Amino acid sequence: MKVTIKNLTKRFPDMTAVNDFSAVIESGELIALLGPSGCGKSTMLNMISGILPSTEGKIYFDDKDVTDLTPEKRGVGLVFQNYALYPHMTVYENMAFGLKLRKVPKEIIDQKVKAAAEILGITDYLSRKPKALSGGQRQRVALGRTIVREPKVFLLDEPLSNLDAKLRESMRFEILSIQKKLNITVVYVTHDQIEAMTVADRIAVMNKGKVQQIDTPDTIYHHPANVFVATFIGSPAMNVVKARIEGTKIVIGECAIEIPAEWLKIVGTRKEVIFGLRPEAAKPNFDNAMVKGTVDFMENTGNLKTASLTLADGQNFFIQDSNQNIDLRNVTGFDFDWTNVNLFDVETEENIGYVEA
Ligand code: ATP
Repeated sequence: MKVTIKNLTKRFPDMTAVNDFSAVIESGELIALLGPSGCGKSTMLNMISGILPSTEGKIYFDDKDVTDLTPEKRGVGLVFQNYALYPHMTVYENMAFGLKLRKVPKEIIDQKVKAAAEILGITDYLSRKPKALSGGQRQRVALGRTIVREPKVFLLDEPLSNLDAKLRESMRFEILSIQKKLNITVVYVTHDQIEAMTVADRIAVMNKGKVQQIDTPDTIYHHPANVFVATFIGSPAMNVVKARIEGTKIVIGECAIEIPAEWLKIVGTRKEVIFGLRPEAAKPNFDNAMVKGTVDFMENTGNLKTASLTLADGQNFFIQDSNQNIDLRNVTGFDFDWTNVNLFDVETEENIGYVEA
């Protein structure tokens, strides 16, 4: 089922929670809505489900306008962060409940519950009560309860945030494999960038009710549309520092570097830009660095070393390296390849272009 969202807006009396959201979610695609707390993710999801009416805009499931339909009529499956299972019912009964209410014949219910349990790996727990299950198992039952209804569109709101880090990781892969197996269209709300990067075909990054960028995880990571996206994704985030343009040179932290011809076209007549480089694309230099800096501190997480540098003009820059044989505390600065660079306009903070690697 393809979901088309056109100019969707939600205004509350004192604020606009979602502002002019448009997107086409292809059939079988998993799209993650990602953004900081309060950016409008849940409001967006609730409008797609039909729980919350929109102020403006339209929603289509395939070619059908569903904007004014109730959640039941839309046929969506919802799984929330606080999934409530009925404590007095077994796993089987919990999963069968929705179908029973719809008077689906017993044999069919049985087939569906067993098939869903198989996919989710909870067949052995069907006769247990929820209190005898772990958090991850309960979450699988919550998913199962929705899957048996065979929704055309699956809407998940922070489905893993009640689970511990390790379980979240394995559940992420399970959700992904179920989604691919059943080929369902999924909208997945999360504030966790790793979760979004690992599960999504495409990510819609939101801030203050506005979509900042809708793209594949790779493009979002390597070519963020603006400074917000650049600094929201990645840990540490992309370095963004102000740089002057002097003739054919860019001056980063008082170090002048020749700009390649194809980049000069992108820079145009600008006198200043925001220079963006991911920490792992800043190559440590111990001798004669392109951009010089002094080390403030170094952090070693075993597989990665991260150093914070202060450039000559006082701006801060993170560099990261996985080579355990080098000591980042002794760097004199960093080098970079222009293929890893993103430049942003100082006024609009929009990406002004990049040269493909
Ligand atoms: P979180 O990750 O914290 O759940 P979110 O991105 O899902 O945040 P929403 O719950 O969609 O954000 O809320 C977006 C904005 O709309 C917030 O500023 C919130 O306070 C506001 N909001 C949500 N519901 C209402 C309401 N019923 N009345 C007024 N304002 C609301």
